Amino acid sequence: MSAPISRQLVVFDFDWSLADQDSDRWIFEVLAPELRRKMKILKKDVQWTDLVASTLRELHKKGGTREDIEGALRKMPFHPAMARGVTDLKARSSPQTTFLCLSNANVVFITTILKAQGLDSLFEEIITNPAEWDPSGLLKLRRRIDPDGPQHQCKVGCSPNMCKGDELEAFLERHKPAFDRVIYVGDGSNDFCPVLRLRSQDIVLCRRHRGLEKLITPFEQEGRLNCQVRYWAGAWEVEEIFKQF
Ligand SMILES: [Mg+2]
Ligand SMILES: [Zn+2]
Repeated sequence: MSAPISRQLVVFDFDWSLADQDSDRWIFEVLAPELRRKMKILKKDVQWTDLVASTLRELHKKGGTREDIEGALRKMPFHPAMARGVTDLKARSSPQTTFLCLSNANVVFITTILKAQGLDSLFEEIITNPAEWDPSGLLKLRRRIDPDGPQHQCKVGCSPNMCKGDELEAFLERHKPAFDRVIYVGDGSNDFCPVLRLRSQDIVLCRRHRGLEKLITPFEQEGRLNCQVRYWAGAWEVEEIFKQF
């Protein structure tokens, strides 16, 4: 028998995990596909957050407005079962659940989408890249870790801009005592580092057919993961798993 769970933490990656699309790519697919194509070409040479920031500047020069971007974000695919699943889990009094968002998107995209989905009070914290609208309607996006300052020291393969493992550990440090259980919902290769730091009572909800699954599977087969693994493909399956907690 495992110990009873009274306090649990649910950590969500945002793109392709909580939301059913990638916000950085989606807005350009909707508003300026030629810029989306250009990003695809430049991706291998330019750091991703810098690339999104410069593409936002190009969109602005072409006449793309704040209203255009907000409109595209509001209609980005978001599965109703995911919205229902997190809302129901948060409303349950036992166990008590805290939600944390760990994302390499940016605070404006995430909060705009959460508001459109009626989820603006879901998260205790949103740890992501800073962004703000300037008066001309340009969305100014910066890396979470200043490229000119000290960088994180993670060797697991996190992108230069953010080590989600370090960010999760810092959050847990700020929110002592330790949670009885951590549930991590993710899909991408940058979700691997925090998953490696989970304990035996913790669970990763890994989305099928994306980067995280490819990294996790061999570790799981070799018994090198501490945490439990549950796989899902559609958001309705996350809702189903949440109902079992
Ligand atoms: Mg993702
Ligand atoms: Zn890392």
